[in-house]
Amino acid sequence: MPQIDRHHLKARMPEVLALFLAKAARIDMPEAARFALDAVLAASDDERDWLFTNVLSDKIPQDSVAPHLFVAAAVQVHAAIAAAALNPEAPVPIRTGICPACGGLPSASIVVEDKGAEGTRYASCSCCQTLWNEVRIKCLCCGETGKISYRSVENGDAVIKAELCGDCDSWTKILYQNKNASLEQLADDVASLGLDLKMRDTEWKRGGFNPFLIGA
Ligand SMILES: [Zn+2]
Ligand SMILES: [Zn+2]
Repeated sequence: MPQIDRHHLKARMPEVLALFLAKAARIDMPEAARFALDAVLAASDDERDWLFTNVLSDKIPQDSVAPHLFVAAAVQVHAAIAAAALNPEAPVPIRTGICPACGGLPSASIVVEDKGAEGTRYASCSCCQTLWNEVRIKCLCCGETGKISYRSVENGDAVIKAELCGDCDSWTKILYQNKNASLEQLADDVASLGLDLKMRDTEWKRGGFNPFLIGA
């Protein structure tokens, strides 16, 4: 079982969302984003409960992505605070591709510089932002290691690649922070949309989950 109980997270979401929306309302944003923010502000308790349930189940309906994104951002803040309070020794592996802190799905993985080693890989949780160790050249979706290959937008030594698995026909992004220290797993997942567009025209399906790329 993950250390963080999502039902417990949900119980405090009405309060967290209200605080988040009050701050978000002061940010300059495009008209479409303001429209979505206003929709969440105007939502009833039942509608907000529906939004929390979807986001905490990692299921965002394609036809109402925009309001869910404000809720997803608020959930990320709440979950990250809960994860930061855990004893780092407490979470134990659940299975490949599942966050040991909150049970969430990985958005991507990063490779970091590690003294004496070639580079250690961490999967990055799309919900609570916990990083957990996963060995290199292993599918984050099915855990298989036998048919892994890599693609990128640029030829040569790209710092963001798609890790493809021929066993489950899925791919996830891998960011080489050991080659570019400024890479950040959530922001650069969104910033490297070109890789998603390249992969969208193939038979491979995206395995990494990132609410901010849904509908892109
Ligand atoms: Zn997590
Ligand atoms: Zn796989």
